[in-house]
Amino acid sequence: MKKVPYRLYLTEDQMPKVWYNLRADMPEQPDPLLNPATGKPATLEELEQVFCTELAKQELDGKTRYFEIPEPVQEIYKQYRPSPLIRAYNLEKALDTPAKIYYKFEGNNTCGSHKVNSAVAQAYYAKQQGLKGLTTETGAGQWGSALSEACAYFGLPLTVYMVKVSYEQKPYRKAVMQTFGAEVIPSPSNTTNAGRAILEKDPTTGGSLGCAISEAVEKAVSTPGYRYVLGSVLNQVLLHQSIIGQEARIAMDLLDEYPDVVIGCAGGGSNLGGLIGPYMRDKLTGKANPRIVAVEPASCPSLTRGKYAYDYCDTGRITPLARMYTLGCGFIPSANHAGGLRYHGMSPILSKLYHDGYMEAVSVEQTKVFEAATMFARLETILPAPESAHAIRAAIDEALRCKESGEKKTILFGLTGTGFFDMAAYTRFNEGNMQDYIPSDEELQRSFDTLPEVPGLKD
Ligand SMILES: *Cc1c(COP(=O)(O)O)cnc(C)c1O
Repeated sequence: MKKVPYRLYLTEDQMPKVWYNLRADMPEQPDPLLNPATGKPATLEELEQVFCTELAKQELDGKTRYFEIPEPVQEIYKQYRPSPLIRAYNLEKALDTPAKIYYKFEGNNTCGSHKVNSAVAQAYYAKQQGLKGLTTETGAGQWGSALSEACAYFGLPLTVYMVKVSYEQKPYRKAVMQTFGAEVIPSPSNTTNAGRAILEKDPTTGGSLGCAISEAVEKAVSTPGYRYVLGSVLNQVLLHQSIIGQEARIAMDLLDEYPDVVIGCAGGGSNLGGLIGPYMRDKLTGKANPRIVAVEPASCPSLTRGKYAYDYCDTGRITPLARMYTLGCGFIPSANHAGGLRYHGMSPILSKLYHDGYMEAVSVEQTKVFEAATMFARLETILPAPESAHAIRAAIDEALRCKESGEKKTILFGLTGTGFFDMAAYTRFNEGNMQDYIPSDEELQRSFDTLPEVPGLKD
């Protein structure tokens, strides 16, 4: 048997110089974003009020297969990329599986996750446009720290609305953002109409991601020279994250390996959408037929139990409508430790691929995820983020099925980041105090009832 290295790093020369736009190879396009007021597809003119112009163009472009990665972005990528493709020899041995397990590790940077891949691109285009600053929201703090780092590279002011419970519970994430020079405001705040309205109703609320989005968008559109940026869900973010899958593909090709199964965790869908690119392309064009699996928390099961419908991207109901698998924009997930996977919807690209049968989805319970995370940490020398550990769980389950059946499958999964800011969750697991939560059908129905009526659109 061929022995491959533990970690394969591409050289700088081997790194991709383009982003891959999955939409260009889809037989049917995802449904367009709609303006909620008119029910008509959102136009470039509308989107560029909120987003940087170049990013709004990328959002609407389903045709261009490859976008050149701007030189300055390539140069920053080289400061923390390529990310390694790792063979999980120790995990394979411990599982006693005939399967080969590979993972692409995106946690080797200060923010500790893949999110910086899109943050750098978005900050670059904002700088190019001569903008005065950016706003965004952050839940657990990963996106906020990634964008703070990216804005620091380009000397661009940034205001981050951070969900108040996280602001209080994750002071170190806040400190990272402030160190990179960002202004961090706990949301809801009295700096916006949206925030003030929520505070008036409930002064003690801990806030929500949807509320923080509403505040960040309001701040961007009401401040001259400012725009809003988002860290997942949107087509442009999947485009930037395609660097992950392209690097993985080049490295796997060098090893003469092809995955039978590609697995990734899915919150808004950006890392998974990026990882699967070249393999989904083979599938869409009939060249190969790897299985593609999205893994989500049982507590926030948008693909496995959601509806494929037009919905707002935020709880505040101010964003355009996206057709996606959603639990309803009114869905408030239970306190689940994988903060990055607590989102009511899913990328419209992935939603369409799932709807059309090109992708599978599974949901996993939190304690099972932490069992997998702990096993992985002890064997592979990486302490995974709880979000990433969802993919580990599914990869382990797949490898155990191979043990049963004797199949020698090749598994590739995305390890999106490290969990050093999630030690409270690990502590809870270690002390046996972690609970699983699965929403009831009635509960989901209540949030489906919050789905918007779209003018002129029938199901
Ligand atoms: C944000 C985050 C995710 C989920 O986001 P996607 O857009 O679905 O990729 C997964 N893992 C980590 C470490 C994250 O920070």
